Amino acid sequence: MRVAVLIVSALMAAGCSDPPPPKPVQSIEKPIKQVDEKSCSVERLRTMIPKLAPLHDEFGPPKPGDWILSHEEDGQTFEQYMECGPVLPQGERTVLYVQPVGEFNAKQREIVNLSAEFMSIFFNLPVTIVEDVGLDVIPKDARRVHPSWGGDQILSTYVLYDVLKPRLPDDAAAYIAFTATDLWPGEGWNFVFGQASTRDRVGVWSLHRNGNPETEFELVLLRTLKTAVHETSHMFTLLHCTKYECNMCGCNSREEGDRRPLALCPECLAKVCWATKTDPALRYRKLIEFCKRTKLDDTAAFYEKLLKALEGVSRIDLR
Ligand SMILES: [Zn+2]
Ligand SMILES: [Zn+2]
Repeated sequence: MRVAVLIVSALMAAGCSDPPPPKPVQSIEKPIKQVDEKSCSVERLRTMIPKLAPLHDEFGPPKPGDWILSHEEDGQTFEQYMECGPVLPQGERTVLYVQPVGEFNAKQREIVNLSAEFMSIFFNLPVTIVEDVGLDVIPKDARRVHPSWGGDQILSTYVLYDVLKPRLPDDAAAYIAFTATDLWPGEGWNFVFGQASTRDRVGVWSLHRNGNPETEFELVLLRTLKTAVHETSHMFTLLHCTKYECNMCGCNSREEGDRRPLALCPECLAKVCWATKTDPALRYRKLIEFCKRTKLDDTAAFYEKLLKALEGVSRIDLR
């Protein structure tokens, strides 16, 4: 009898809480078509690392308040990554889904769409933007007004486990919510820029603390892209970087995030190119095109230097 009751209530719970799957509104195809699989072979990526290394600043020394001072982390080399059995975007799970949550003004919407495009190039995966979910899906007990400064906030873990997880499409490599509302992750925290679950393929990040896109569009875009690709990389089991000043370094504050480049160090680049089977030079060509179009000039110039060094690797390989 007891078992029967449990089964019935489980079925009822499943029936009641099943939200409809998200409806696609825009799809971006896998952007990098490459013919030569050798261009992202382990050997080639290993050759690339020492060639790119001199172009990247070594990590540290840390400034007061930096992430590394309060978190003990050893980093993760390309070799360690390959050996750790990472979550890879492969088989049926190859699409990145972008889920807008709540209200956006026109400029914020543009930033979400550009972030979706950038993520498709960065990970060489198709991206699907799905129909908005309104803030009315967030119940009262998953919202608050911050006790000292008074701003509206939504609970990031509610977005992850109650909004995204039940709607997770079968072919999702990752399902990522963007919101313009401030996030907090629970008791004892003031706010969080973004949060991702590496196990459940869901993540959420907020534009709220990234600035005013009406007056500083490029800066807001740059900050949003940094969080988007940092958190998505975690979802593919990349750990924090402690070897270089890299987009995969842990980050405690806006100042610390602004100091880091929107670029992966050679170890982290090798991981992403290996995980997504992407030719690093073709990837940088597409990223340069994106950054020039969106006026991220410093980032475009840095990518151009990296591409030049990569082309040097290609010539060495051909000899
Ligand atoms: Zn992180
Ligand atoms: Zn790195």
